[in-house]
Amino acid sequence: MTPDHALELSGVRKSYPGFTLKDVSFALPRGVIGGLIGPNGSGKTTIIKLIMNLVRREAGEIRVFGLDNRTNEIAVKSRIGFVYDVPGFWDDQSLDSQRRALGAFYPRWSDDTFRRLAGEFGLPLDKKYKALSHGARTKFALAMALSHEADLLIMDEPTAGLDPIFRRELLKRLSALLQEEGKSILFSTHITSDLERVADVITFIRAGEIAFSLTRDELLDGWAIVRGDDRVVRELDPRVVKGVRRRALGVDALVSDGAAVRRALGAGAVVDKVTLDDVMVLMAGEARHAA
Ligand code: ADP
Repeated sequence: MTPDHALELSGVRKSYPGFTLKDVSFALPRGVIGGLIGPNGSGKTTIIKLIMNLVRREAGEIRVFGLDNRTNEIAVKSRIGFVYDVPGFWDDQSLDSQRRALGAFYPRWSDDTFRRLAGEFGLPLDKKYKALSHGARTKFALAMALSHEADLLIMDEPTAGLDPIFRRELLKRLSALLQEEGKSILFSTHITSDLERVADVITFIRAGEIAFSLTRDELLDGWAIVRGDDRVVRELDPRVVKGVRRRALGVDALVSDGAAVRRALGAGAVVDKVTLDDVMVLMAGEARHAA
């Protein structure tokens, strides 16, 4: 286990009837934002619940700042700020009374941080939770998570149901926080555009398995799209072909070693840089073909 990792999973397994999360291994270095992305039902929430020890893993190891998340559960949870869909706030209580009640659980709780964030987010502290819009609920959950001085923020689909402008604002804010305060963040999403700008490490999960976990640069500089016809695609080393998309006038193949493919195919072939969108669409397409 590497001490510089905020989070490290290795060989993690969990099964439900008809679904198995298997051999899940990836790491999040300290001070970076990791995006856990994949189609709905691929296992993102299950991974987050396993990290939070809300469900029991059947095999493997999960370490948070080097500590096992089960044997050191209390220490681990005090360092994590958790934002998820059903956050367990009381509908009928004001934000301020929840701040008082919940803040008491955390040894490093800071009322000053909470007030500053609530001000920045424009949260109406005297209002009941149930009166808040979806966006304001997310902001409240975030302000609470950040006020106990967590070192690692874990967020399950924090942008789900938010409009694009608010999504962008939220992610920019998180990115700034990270730079200011050296926090690490793992968030799940099924929206590719959430990863643009903010995610330093991208972990793609598909049908319960990690398809890749790479830095943004490794992905965008290392991978490529080959555009050609079936013959060109057949000539590619199948080990580097990660997905294929048929178009009216040819075929696009996503490859994980753009440099080698450029050398092998020579000057006649079209080998383009990838966008995150290409990667997501072609990887998901391959999953559909394989299913
Ligand atoms: P995602 O977050 O990527 O949408 P989930 O981790 O929520 O995916 O779900 C992955 C799979 O596990 C789905 O097929 C889902 O039906 C199944 N699953 C999740 N939780 C349970 C549970 N408590 N009991 C049975 N099946 C579950």
